[in-house]
Amino acid sequence: MQIAEEKLTFYYNGNIKKVPAYHLIEAAIEERGNYLVEFYNEFLIDIYVLLDNLDSKYIAIDWDNTVSADPEFFIDLIRKFQKAGYTPFICTLRAPDEENIAEITAVLAARNIAIYLTDGQEKQSYMQNLGINVHLWIDDFYPSICRDACLLFIQNGIE
Ligand SMILES: [Mg+2]
Repeated sequence: MQIAEEKLTFYYNGNIKKVPAYHLIEAAIEERGNYLVEFYNEFLIDIYVLLDNLDSKYIAIDWDNTVSADPEFFIDLIRKFQKAGYTPFICTLRAPDEENIAEITAVLAARNIAIYLTDGQEKQSYMQNLGINVHLWIDDFYPSICRDACLLFIQNGIE
């Protein structure tokens, strides 16, 4: 496993400050020395934290260039979410084959966390079809969540 050498820059929009789960992320980022910015600048941002359903306890975390960019940080964050009563899970565009699942479970090892592999399908509608409305999306590539004029982007200050 590669340990991140460079610090990651996370994006959030100001409206997210009202949800308690955000404050767990903020604290974990500070602890790790990663960066947090409130202004959308696609050249600066590594990972987006986007607020979706206000009442949900589900937190969808991308794999490639998200968890894989700093596994130690995310394993700690997953534990913090679980302790606080949230249900974090992995949601990736990868195909649902054994190799992909084995790679992800090897890193996460016994974290008691679900893995959803959408096989290239937009993540938001994929999860909604399974009856899961997501509270927060943590992802390096937001067009994987929903496309075009998606309300999620507007609500989170992304044009
Ligand atoms: Mg990714």
